[in-house]
Amino acid sequence: MKNIVVAIDGYSSCGKSTIAKELARHAGYTYVDTGAMYRAVALYLLQNNHPMDSDNLTELLQGIHITFSLQPDGSQHTMLNGEDVEHLIRTLEVGNMASQISPIRQVRQYLVAQQQAMGKQKAIVMDGRDIGTVVFPDAELKLFLTASPQVRAKRRYDELKAKGENPIMEDVLADINDRDYRDSHRAESPLRQAEDAIVVDNSYMTREEQMEHIIHLFTERCATI
Ligand code: C5P
Repeated sequence: MKNIVVAIDGYSSCGKSTIAKELARHAGYTYVDTGAMYRAVALYLLQNNHPMDSDNLTELLQGIHITFSLQPDGSQHTMLNGEDVEHLIRTLEVGNMASQISPIRQVRQYLVAQQQAMGKQKAIVMDGRDIGTVVFPDAELKLFLTASPQVRAKRRYDELKAKGENPIMEDVLADINDRDYRDSHRAESPLRQAEDAIVVDNSYMTREEQMEHIIHLFTERCATI
């Protein structure tokens, strides 16, 4: 079977990474979480007290090296300049900062170039906001995941609780709405559905139903190229 590129885009907290990871495991493909890359840049700027509008941003970016390290349990951890930052990048604060720095052209150019290089050999599942529109406009399979803001807020709330945080539901929902707005209204690569993307609304689908549907789409696509 021919290897393909699978581009998965969608709003925050709609389960993109869970689905992308499972599909990658099913297909024996590499999984790349591009949100983690924006989060790692955000963490670097926060840790080093660099303002977002630094004049020397291009220079700063050259000092940021993001890689992924495969763990014994099969999960992937995000590494920032050799340090495992997987847990540090998953907070609301870093997520918010990631959404604020992601409209900056230099940041996008820097990360998109790395993402395109990762997909050169195909056999990749990449998730984000602009994968099917900008990073891989020729991806053989494009999925656009969506779910209602309330359903996504509940999922995010449960995730934060499970990590020992003490979130407030209204704040989580407001954060989701803000992020949706910022991600889809920015001038640089706004989140939008590629014309040839298949929409999957998973508000009322179980994880198993979703996976079955997506694996079916993947198998069908691979068979036709
Ligand atoms: O997907 P995740 O919530 O981890 O992404 C964090 C932020 O990074 C998003 O809110 C979005 O602003 C940004 N992002 C992006 N383009 C991508 C992936 C993430 O702008 N391809």
